[in-house]
Amino acid sequence: MTAPEAPATTTLSGDVRADVAIVGGGYTGLSTALHLAKRGIKAVVLEAGPVGFGGAGRNVGLVNAGMWVMPDELPNVLGAVHGDRLLTLLGDAPAAVFEIVRTYNIACELRTEGTLHCAVGPAGLEELKAREAQWQARGAPVRLLDAQETAQRIGSNAYSGALLDRRAGTIQPLAYVRGLADAALKEGAIIHTQSPVSGVETASAGWRVMTGNGSATAPWVVMATDAYTQGPWEIIRREQVHLPYFNLATEPLPDDVRATILPGGEGAWDTKEVLSSFRMDARGRLVFGSVGALKGTGHAIHRDWGLRALHRLFPQLGKVKFEAEWYGQIGMTDDNLPRFHKFADKVIGISGYNGRGIAPGTVMGRTLAELIAAEKGEADLPLPVTTPQEVKMRALKEVFYEVGAQAVHLTDSRF
Ligand SMILES: Cc1cc2nc3c(=O)[nH]c(=O)nc-3n(C[C@H](O)[C@H](O)[C@H](O)COP(=O)(O)OP(=O)(O)OC[C@H]3O[C@@H](n4cnc5c(N)ncnc54)[C@H](O)[C@@H]3O)c2cc1C
Repeated sequence: MTAPEAPATTTLSGDVRADVAIVGGGYTGLSTALHLAKRGIKAVVLEAGPVGFGGAGRNVGLVNAGMWVMPDELPNVLGAVHGDRLLTLLGDAPAAVFEIVRTYNIACELRTEGTLHCAVGPAGLEELKAREAQWQARGAPVRLLDAQETAQRIGSNAYSGALLDRRAGTIQPLAYVRGLADAALKEGAIIHTQSPVSGVETASAGWRVMTGNGSATAPWVVMATDAYTQGPWEIIRREQVHLPYFNLATEPLPDDVRATILPGGEGAWDTKEVLSSFRMDARGRLVFGSVGALKGTGHAIHRDWGLRALHRLFPQLGKVKFEAEWYGQIGMTDDNLPRFHKFADKVIGISGYNGRGIAPGTVMGRTLAELIAAEKGEADLPLPVTTPQEVKMRALKEVFYEVGAQAVHLTDSRF
């Protein structure tokens, strides 16, 4: 565990009153709480597990600018108004994360040197050329590196190029979400952990949000439960297909080896459909991830593949061991874009970040706070209001993701 401890929190008991009850203690919920509390609006966060139990505590740590969807494609999917707003918001989102980290002095291994989206083969390079042109047309500081510069920055000859995005960066994701919780508490928010919300009912003051031992009554409810949704409005989960993703962290590397891999401090991922990602943490541990769940038959298959792939990518590693491993579920939507939902009067939520939730979750939390504070209206939001739709054949699609990842990792058909 390389994250500082979470701030002390208690389980909810009795009835508490607030202006906003927030369900979910990940980036979205805690950023909403922080930005509400800064405005003097009383927010109470109810988290089923510990802070960061969901995607926030399990991810890679890439603070990306933008989504998977190509920049020029986004206005076609969302319409010009929402598309342009979302691109602007997400393009600036890493800077918002960096500012929060600096303002609240969050110890989360922040690196702001950018990210490298690495091209695998000619098809990967073509995709990145298009991304470069489309982002540059919007004034974004991105640059396509040739194979030689990519090899120097990555420490591997595996890639045909890479898109350097100077807006982006990396963090230790669990440390960041714990720091967000600390910042929200310092601004006056209340956080209750081990407090799963089991139901929401109408009350004279708006809504009563119930847990096993207590309740929170508030005019507003924010559902910030994303892929880990349980309890009320479980449709948030059923609107998504879960993509499993794992990370393996090596032991700290010797200084001479460490100096050859990502010497510039960027985070990296590649263009393959069954993608891989990697970043160097502050202790010199290489955190290497890919699609799959570290359980059942997948455990050995993904882990063994991870070792082989790392050696092929970075022969200089020599004998290396993993000292930590974890995995989680990424909530994918059918168009790879997040959703803004109104579940009932003054019950709202944003979810569906498609594996891009650190910076987007942070700025979407801020946006929800601005909406509740009436600084923005619904018409000003970066996403249209949509009704959640259950995905057809969800379970089958989820099996397909895992089986597909195991097949790729077993046959070793990469690099
Ligand atoms: C393995 C993995 C790798 C990823 N890598 C990256 C990355 O490199 N970069 C990036 O930007 N994003 C990444 N993501 C995605 C990112 O982690 C998520 O998009 C992000 O965590 C979403 O934030 P959130 O606050 O909306 O939801 P979450 O962080 O999932 O938090 C939701 C919380 O709601 C709680 N909850 C659910 N139901 C209830 C209930 N009834 N009562 C109380 N609490 C409840 C859950 O316990 C959970 O803690 C990755 C995700 C995974 C799983």
